[in-house]
Amino acid sequence: MPEDSKFKLPFEDGLGFCNILLSAIGGDGANMAAKMLFKLGVMKMGLDGGYDAKYGSEKKGTPTDVSVRFCRDGTVVRSVGPTTHPHILVAFHESLIKILRLNKGLYPNAIVIVNSTKAPEKIRDILELHSGQIICLDASKIAEETRSRLNMPMLAMLCNVLKFPTEAVEKAVEKQWPKAAEANIAAFKAAVNSAQKAEFPEDGKYPLVPFSRVRGELGYLNALPGGAIEALKYSTVKRNNSEARQGPCPIFNEDECTNCGMCMTVCADPGAISWKDKKMQGVDPSFCKGCMRCVVICPRTGRALRDPHKKEEKTQQKDKNTKALSR
Ligand code: SF4
Ligand code: SF4
Repeated sequence: MPEDSKFKLPFEDGLGFCNILLSAIGGDGANMAAKMLFKLGVMKMGLDGGYDAKYGSEKKGTPTDVSVRFCRDGTVVRSVGPTTHPHILVAFHESLIKILRLNKGLYPNAIVIVNSTKAPEKIRDILELHSGQIICLDASKIAEETRSRLNMPMLAMLCNVLKFPTEAVEKAVEKQWPKAAEANIAAFKAAVNSAQKAEFPEDGKYPLVPFSRVRGELGYLNALPGGAIEALKYSTVKRNNSEARQGPCPIFNEDECTNCGMCMTVCADPGAISWKDKKMQGVDPSFCKGCMRCVVICPRTGRALRDPHKKEEKTQQKDKNTKALSR
């Protein structure tokens, strides 16, 4: 049973929905954050609604759009799929605003949460927001300083905007991620305390931008002969995905590596380990998740691959132990 059936949504469209769009790149945890938000809305606030996520390969850092739509319990759910008209937009990276034209379809007086070090006034100009409120927070820095993840400060702001009770939110976060509870709660508090907000009334500076499907160049009607598309033109392979990392990037020492390939077999994101001409080239910090599986499995741990947070003496001791065992 919902704990708070009196909860009021800040917006409602003609079908009774409050539409929320999270725009991120693979690996940011936007999908996980949205699932948590939806669970909170339904289980704790007595809401109903729908949920939709679309994303490409996280290894390529591709855009991830997650839509959450809330309505009052008892409203007939007459719309599904990705939202085309958000009341609340959450941009995990300021750089996505222009690339994905995130202002399209936004309602007047929308609320926009952006991970950025810039002032809300500057973000309004980048987004070309018609009207509404912009909230900026340096979520990347918060995640790094609290040893949490980027999705936690963004989720914190979103819950704050929706006026979900802090206690209920923190309890749910603790229950969902018990091992990371302290870091996540610290990230929640830092996000709410450091956010910069500004209101922009309708002043005629920017028009409302209707929703449109952006990519006119792509599709089965106009694909190249053979059905191919110019993949390289649209690839986001060079996009830096390092904000999705949960720990440090291992240090690689080529001189100590035997090119056994063990690290490759366990890597959480095989794109993170560069391999060329049958030789290990190193770890790409853009894709590495910092899980340290490669360091653990590497037969030359502490030499070929090293956790920068661990002291050398420990790894040297491990080497001695390994040698003693193999005698
Ligand atoms: S597991 Fe260690 S030794 Fe083997 S290829 Fe990877 S870094 Fe080199
Ligand atoms: S720490 Fe190692 S195993 Fe984990 S993602 Fe980075 S390179 Fe891959």
